[in-house]
Amino acid sequence: ASADPTPLTGDNLTMRFGGLVAVNGVSIEVKPSEIVGLIGPNGSGKTTLLNMLSGVLTPTEGSVQRGDMVLTNAAPHDVANHGIARTFQNIRLFNELTVYQNVLTAALSTLDGKRAIERCEAAIVAMGVAQFAENDANTLSYGDQRRVEIARALACEPSLVFLDEPAAGMNREETDELMKTLQTLTSELGLGVLIVDHDLKLINQLCDRIIVLNEGMLIAQGTPAEIRKNPAVIEAYLGH
Ligand code: ADP
Repeated sequence: ASADPTPLTGDNLTMRFGGLVAVNGVSIEVKPSEIVGLIGPNGSGKTTLLNMLSGVLTPTEGSVQRGDMVLTNAAPHDVANHGIARTFQNIRLFNELTVYQNVLTAALSTLDGKRAIERCEAAIVAMGVAQFAENDANTLSYGDQRRVEIARALACEPSLVFLDEPAAGMNREETDELMKTLQTLTSELGLGVLIVDHDLKLINQLCDRIIVLNEGMLIAQGTPAEIRKNPAVIEAYLGH
């Protein structure tokens, strides 16, 4: 399957919470077949930006579009219907449901019965959790629960997926395994990934491009090699 190649663009996005400017005039583009890292110190606006791009928050200023489709005021469900899925920092599985039921529930939010079942099963296999399909979600290791979370996102048949700290709590081996899985999904299915993570080794090895936020502003953007030697980035990290 080749994914819808239309990029998602956030243009001049600003989010204010009372007097606090959490995100300040950020423009960003993510397209299928690329892996983009979003990094920055704690409180720099990464989650707020993902929330605006996925319909969880309506920006104070700026717009979100996919091609001609304006998604600025769209609800998360509408954004999902335009091929954009996400995971959250906190694991949000239904503990008393099986892995299969968790993933199917997600698939049914955007797809009809037969297609939902197909996508559910494909996502479970793609994320390497098929051996746990009939187990209750809360019996899985933390790392495997995170993989099920990503399977829930993939089951919605997205062309773009946003991952908020997918490797949090994973050991190095689990993180490396996750990295391989994401690279396969990108190269074989043409999935686009926007990933927030504190693990800079993961981000450097995985991403085609990195975007750096500091205090709500986009301070740098480039390849991992460019970002590593960018003085503004070094300053932002050392300053915290
Ligand atoms: P990051 O993901 O980079 O750690 P966040 O996007 O979570 O940063 O937060 C950016 C800033 O916005 C922080 O100062 C945070 O306290 C603030 N913030 C985030 N969400 C809210 C909210 N719902 N209400 C008020 N302030 C918020």
